Amino acid sequence: MTHIYYKSTRDAKRVVTASQAILQGISQEGGLFVPVEMPNIHLDWEQLKSATYQEVAQLILKAFFTDFTDEEIAKCVAAAYDEKFTHSAIAPVKSLDKHVSILELFHGNTIAFKDMALSILPHLMQVAMKKQNIDREIVILTATSGDTGKAAMAGFSGVKGTKIVVFYPDGGVSEIQKQQMVTQVGDNVKVVAVKGNFDDAQSQVKEMFNDMELKQEIEQLGYQFSSANSINIGRLIPQVVYYVYAYAQLLQQEKIQIGDPIRFVVPTGNFGNILAGYYAKKIGVPIDKLVCASNENNVLVDFFATGHYDKRRPFYLTTSPSMDILVSSNLERLIYEISQENAQLTQDYMTQLKTKGDYQIETHMHQLLTDFVAFDATQTQVSEAIKSVYNRYHYVIDPHTAVAYVAYEKLSAQEQEGNSNLQTVILSTANPYKFPRSVMNAFSSQNRPEHDFDLVQKLYDLTQLSIPQAVVEAMNAPVLHREVVSIDEMPTTVVEFLKK
Ligand SMILES: *Cc1c(COP(=O)(O)O)cnc(C)c1O
Repeated sequence: MTHIYYKSTRDAKRVVTASQAILQGISQEGGLFVPVEMPNIHLDWEQLKSATYQEVAQLILKAFFTDFTDEEIAKCVAAAYDEKFTHSAIAPVKSLDKHVSILELFHGNTIAFKDMALSILPHLMQVAMKKQNIDREIVILTATSGDTGKAAMAGFSGVKGTKIVVFYPDGGVSEIQKQQMVTQVGDNVKVVAVKGNFDDAQSQVKEMFNDMELKQEIEQLGYQFSSANSINIGRLIPQVVYYVYAYAQLLQQEKIQIGDPIRFVVPTGNFGNILAGYYAKKIGVPIDKLVCASNENNVLVDFFATGHYDKRRPFYLTTSPSMDILVSSNLERLIYEISQENAQLTQDYMTQLKTKGDYQIETHMHQLLTDFVAFDATQTQVSEAIKSVYNRYHYVIDPHTAVAYVAYEKLSAQEQEGNSNLQTVILSTANPYKFPRSVMNAFSSQNRPEHDFDLVQKLYDLTQLSIPQAVVEAMNAPVLHREVVSIDEMPTTVVEFLKK
């Protein structure tokens, strides 16, 4: 079997193993790690049809993480995808109608899609640390737009040899998201609100990773940084699994035949989820289009239309906060790919984005984006979609999933004459109970109780959809974290925590 190595998007000479890439998170000069080549995986669909999620995970992760043994992967998979997931299929595929299915990615710890990868990342890191003979402790720094933070803490809480500090934008996450985070237990976790938006927080975290003085300071304390953000290949690769699994499930449900191309519609923020879909296509999953769905922060929709990435625009706080992002970090990997792996050019674009706020890719690069289409959804359209999906299918979707649904409707409208009979899978990234206010507002615009928690009950009364255990727990747990800091104070906050 060929070994798969990883190299930086900004310096092809920086080549590392999977375990090194997982530990480093981001390459030292700021680039992201990408596989030097895609693994050659034999996707035996007859067999995969009846495979469990864990079996598919074993196959995919082993192929990408070649310096892990079969046993190590098996242990990580078993530890991650266990009873924490409240559905035995882990990521069930539910049929809405003849042509459309929903891939539910919200049955983990924190009832959102980040659990798919963050439940396995800590285990991958632990194995990687052993492999690399690391005796320092790992410090995970994470900026979150709402879901990553809790999912990361849930994954890392209590994991030996690790500490985790999570920064979230003050006022930029839902009440339930916030409650889930500030009630997180564990001596090795810290959660801090930041005066700024998600992009500010994420930029500062990136700065901290590249800050040599800070690095030395924490090394003296016995620590080294790593990232649990979606730029880590330890998160990206586990997300490839459910694309393979979903295709196999459609075969199993006899909605498609082997080889039929299908489409995935992905509610997109940092471009991690959909990039995993792109990798799935590259390893041979028959994917026609990947549909990038954005909310009003539609920088990606414009990018796919014009090749111009321009973050100089108003930043909206929407009802799908986990997608309120203007700098989609993982796009760098796609840019690198369509530049024919030109690290210098990739670096130039990213520098332009940072200094000027935009970059324009070359025409021939733009022409290589045919695997993608992109549509955006306004908050009004999201609200209407929640209501109409419920009325039509008696199925409740959250606002992020609704953004994808609107994108699907726009794609279908465009195709009416083209008469596309392709199967479409919409990725559902959060349980509706995580965003009860927006969901209830979609059903009627009456005045609402002050607290999201009261809305949980109202949503239940209306739909009889069972309330997830995670929400019940968050509602009743004591608040343990109250700190609010400025962007500038983030580094000292980390150092202080590590000194304790
Ligand atoms: C993170 C998240 C997204 C966006 O996924 P990316 O990988 O950042 O594109 C969408 N929906 C929910 C609920 C999320 O938590």
